[in-house]
Amino acid sequence: MKNIAVIGAGLSGITCARRLESHCNVQVFDKSRGVSGRMSTRYAGAFEFDHGAQYFTAHHENFRAEVIAGIDAGQLAPWAGRALYHKSSGLEPDKGADRFTAIPRMNSWVKYLARGLNVTLATRIINMKYSGGQWMLTSQDGTQFGPFDAAVMAIPAPQAETLISPYFNAINAVKNTKMDACFALMLGFDDLPDLGWDSLRVDRGPAAWLAINHSKAGRPKIPSLVVHGAAAWSNEHAEIDREQVLSELITAASKAANFDLSRAKHQALHRWLYASVSAAPNKPCLHDAALNLALCGDWCLGGRVENAFLSGQAAGQAILESL
Ligand SMILES: Cc1cc2nc3c(=O)[nH]c(=O)nc-3n(C[C@H](O)[C@H](O)[C@H](O)COP(=O)(O)OP(=O)(O)OC[C@H]3O[C@@H](n4cnc5c(N)ncnc54)[C@H](O)[C@@H]3O)c2cc1C
Repeated sequence: MKNIAVIGAGLSGITCARRLESHCNVQVFDKSRGVSGRMSTRYAGAFEFDHGAQYFTAHHENFRAEVIAGIDAGQLAPWAGRALYHKSSGLEPDKGADRFTAIPRMNSWVKYLARGLNVTLATRIINMKYSGGQWMLTSQDGTQFGPFDAAVMAIPAPQAETLISPYFNAINAVKNTKMDACFALMLGFDDLPDLGWDSLRVDRGPAAWLAINHSKAGRPKIPSLVVHGAAAWSNEHAEIDREQVLSELITAASKAANFDLSRAKHQALHRWLYASVSAAPNKPCLHDAALNLALCGDWCLGGRVENAFLSGQAAGQAILESL
């Protein structure tokens, strides 16, 4: 059996590892203390917030099949929340494809998919060396892992760029990828009146998205609301004082909600530096057979959960075909 390293235990890395596991020895590494990457959940006392991905849609037949399997396994459920769009012309229904969420929280599905895999957590890979047809990895604490016959980087493009060899055949596609920041504001309340919606998309201003977290299936019914900053605004404010960011976001979200959200007893802010994708290679994955190296992630296809899954599948397939 060949040995394969997968760096990144988000949906793309775990999907890739699952594709490979029956053919190879696969070791997955992640710098975090848990799997799931941007499909994540933050806890604060009794409050819970999906502060990364909010929901996902499923268009491609491969992903639809995985979603159906997830529903059958009790891991996923449709989100039938009332979805509104706040436009300058007024409120209108926020139409689109069926929405799904993991249950009981966003990170639980990737944990479920990762069961049985060899995952090494709290291990940030800071160096990758290719020599004699094999990869050696070094983590931040100096530990060496390997040799591996092939490696997959399932991490955001700007983070891959810091690790990757300049000889990678698609290095320009990595460099030209653009990812945007997103501030996530998490608000917990003793009481929250019915605001008339469960998700509110906003077409202008700092706050682009508001969601009643506990309206999703399986969540504790403790009033919790997530606000996401708009991409351009989050990019501009990425290095600005957090108190100011929180204050601007809560003011904008209160205006959109027509309710004073500063009443929240729990208020916390998280900055995602690489949340979404505004310029993508538009390839399922990037693969260099000469280096036994593949790159995957949502960013290859333009962001979103479905694309992370499809890209992970494509990278696993590319590695299998080149071994
Ligand atoms: C705020 C926000 C809102 C979103 N909303 C939606 C939405 O509503 N719908 C939707 O479809 N998508 C949404 N997304 C996007 C969705 O979360 C992503 O498309 C998907 O989770 C990406 O999965 P991935 O595996 O490609 O990357 P990630 O989930 O980012 O996984 C990469 C993993 O690599 C690890 N890592 C990075 N560098 C290293 C290293 N050097 N060594 C070891 N490990 C490393 C990270 O810790 C991480 O776990 C949202 C994302 C954010 C942040």
